[in-house]
Amino acid sequence: MPSSTSLCVDCQTFPSQVAIRKRRLCHDCFHKFVSSKVLKRMETYRFKNQVGNQKKRLLLPLSGGVSSLVLLQILDAQIKRQLSQQNRTAYDLVVCHVSPPDMNGTNSGGETTEWWKRVQEVFDLHTYPFVTALLDVTQHDHRIEDDLALLGVNRHEEEDNRAFVERVLTSARTATSRADLHSLLLRRLIVSIAKQQDCESIIWGHSDSQLAAQALASVAKGRGGATPNELADGPSPWGLNFNYPLRDLFRTELQLYLETLPSEFRGCLLEEKVEVETPVSLRATSIDALLSTYITGQGEKYPSIMANVVRTASKLQVPSAVDGQMCRLCAMPVVGGDEQKLCYGCERMKQDIKV
Ligand SMILES: [Zn+2]
Ligand SMILES: [Zn+2]
Repeated sequence: MPSSTSLCVDCQTFPSQVAIRKRRLCHDCFHKFVSSKVLKRMETYRFKNQVGNQKKRLLLPLSGGVSSLVLLQILDAQIKRQLSQQNRTAYDLVVCHVSPPDMNGTNSGGETTEWWKRVQEVFDLHTYPFVTALLDVTQHDHRIEDDLALLGVNRHEEEDNRAFVERVLTSARTATSRADLHSLLLRRLIVSIAKQQDCESIIWGHSDSQLAAQALASVAKGRGGATPNELADGPSPWGLNFNYPLRDLFRTELQLYLETLPSEFRGCLLEEKVEVETPVSLRATSIDALLSTYITGQGEKYPSIMANVVRTASKLQVPSAVDGQMCRLCAMPVVGGDEQKLCYGCERMKQDIKV
């Protein structure tokens, strides 16, 4: 008989195996704790909110890292439960993956294909469009080329799609503006995929830690006005909903959750991300990477402060746009200037772009 101190504090039956937020839990109760936090954020997509027989299609972008994989595993389990209990599901999942631009010239295509197949075998109930390369963004987002011209980047004669996008990315002169441009193209591509796939929402795999880092980085990059829009659950300026069901969980908790799942799930990681990496050179580090490293290393020691960052940032007043004018590149409000087509953050980014 285990002593009472080593029993799980929730079920009082099984020995505790993990310590989470100062409570000792068994694996089962820990899994329940994590998935209940996620499913609470998915209540909009319950049966009772369904209109007629109209089933919702939700896009889940899978990065290959821990957070979005945990999200997929939890939603997949929910869908399986719905099928076994009611023989129907409240929503359909479309799972997509965008492969990053390959800056080193090495081809990782084969490895990605194998991984993508493995994911589809383990989570076999969902729709999987082809893996899309970030460098193919102009083929999916037909407006982006015109919008990039506002940054002063124009396609050369006879330059193909990929060479053009590659040049766009390398035209950024600082690590921060490069990361900014990269996340902008990624977001626009994922939004385009969601629209092509008839999805009404994008279900993002950002943890609380990632949202906090993103909120602080946005402010540092002059994109503070966009922050509440970026962090909110619900309608986004892109014409579809954004949801962040992992917003109440830290990256370390998601990591621990994945480690305690059966090995078939861990096999669906594309890469083991190095969790805490001290930047070698500050010059070569973007604000985003710096804050993300800091929050993973230090911020998670202060969970209530982290939660407050996201909560407070969500409540910031969004500056009202001149005549509801939206930035052509990032869809955030444009403040001031009559003929201005870019927001303050994109104008700042533009100054770092040299072609
Ligand atoms: Zn328990
Ligand atoms: Zn903008």
